[in-house]
Amino acid sequence: MSDKPKIAVIGAGLAGMRLTQRLRGAATVTVFEKSRGIGGRMSTRRAGERRFDHGAQYFTARGAAFRDFLAPFVAGGTVAVWEPRLMNEVVRDAAGPAGEDDAGSTRYVACPGMNSLCRAMGQGADVALATRVATISRDGATWSLKTTGDTLLNGFDYVLCTAPSVQTKDLMPAEFAGHEALAGARMAGCYSLMLGFELPPALSWDAAFVKDGPLSWIAANHSKPERSGAEMLCQSDNAWADENIERDQDEVRETLMAAFTEVTGTDARQADYKSLHRWRYAKMTTPAGAPCLFDAARGLGAAGDWCGGGRVESAFDSGNALADAVLQDMRSAQPGA
Ligand SMILES: Cc1cc2nc3c(=O)[nH]c(=O)nc-3n(C[C@H](O)[C@H](O)[C@H](O)COP(=O)(O)OP(=O)(O)OC[C@H]3O[C@@H](n4cnc5c(N)ncnc54)[C@H](O)[C@@H]3O)c2cc1C
Repeated sequence: MSDKPKIAVIGAGLAGMRLTQRLRGAATVTVFEKSRGIGGRMSTRRAGERRFDHGAQYFTARGAAFRDFLAPFVAGGTVAVWEPRLMNEVVRDAAGPAGEDDAGSTRYVACPGMNSLCRAMGQGADVALATRVATISRDGATWSLKTTGDTLLNGFDYVLCTAPSVQTKDLMPAEFAGHEALAGARMAGCYSLMLGFELPPALSWDAAFVKDGPLSWIAANHSKPERSGAEMLCQSDNAWADENIERDQDEVRETLMAAFTEVTGTDARQADYKSLHRWRYAKMTTPAGAPCLFDAARGLGAAGDWCGGGRVESAFDSGNALADAVLQDMRSAQPGA
């Protein structure tokens, strides 16, 4: 039997998979993910032959740590540069989907779908999919998790949660020292509208930041490397999504389809595949203000894009920061440390 510490990581998005990569050598790590796939908000919807990146659209790498991490994935083809023709007339000079101006930055995508990076990171890892953690409770010196299916999982020395901040706040035990920071973090919603056509709409651009109205972004998903087909992906404005989050979903879809038609001149009703995805917690609007939240005394931690910049790279950085803190704690717990 292994005498390595036992760690539960909640969430198989980039922060969770980075934590897992970093901690696997020193601990027995199990990842619990409520969805049926790995990737979190770096997600790809499959519909027959069609593929839509309906979460993160692309990512940038501003820091050396993320650039160095990406280099082997770029060399191996799991990550590629996307150079879309951006529609200048409606390009926002700030506040794109990732919250800042990316002009001049290299835009990367994972291939063949946005979830491919986390999937590659998760190879060989112990990931329990379709497993939603419902409660975390003390059981003597360790932690127990209960799933929504009422399965009890015992004996974790550390529990590290990477769900969006609101969900992390709901899940973490009351004694977790990170609650105040979690309460300060804010996230906004977003709707993703997926439209599949028989042929690609005739457009002079591949992607556009849309200025006014309910949409904020439209992209030809098929223009990304290693994609084909005729798939258009639209994202709503975050404030608009929050205002309409409980609205009838058919109405939301119709409204966004009308906006697509208006911006592109292509009738959205011609699409033979139309689907709407609601993200309640898509984008960080107020960060928690720490690289990660770690309560060493209790063996509880939290990480995610909401700790920092609300981007893919922020999730990576936060996962790294929490891995550093846990490894340091494990070292200091060793006899003679
Ligand atoms: C529509 C949209 C567009 C975006 N566009 C961009 C962009 O262009 N560029 C960019 O850099 N970023 C973008 N982002 C943000 C980017 O996707 C995130 O910053 C990043 O993916 C967050 O990673 P994470 O690991 O912190 O969280 P997540 O990816 O959200 O991972 C958390 C995981 O926890 C799981 N989970 C939650 N609760 C439980 C539970 N109780 N039990 C088990 N599992 C649970 C979730 O299912 C999820 O898989 C976008 C996001 C959205 C939604």
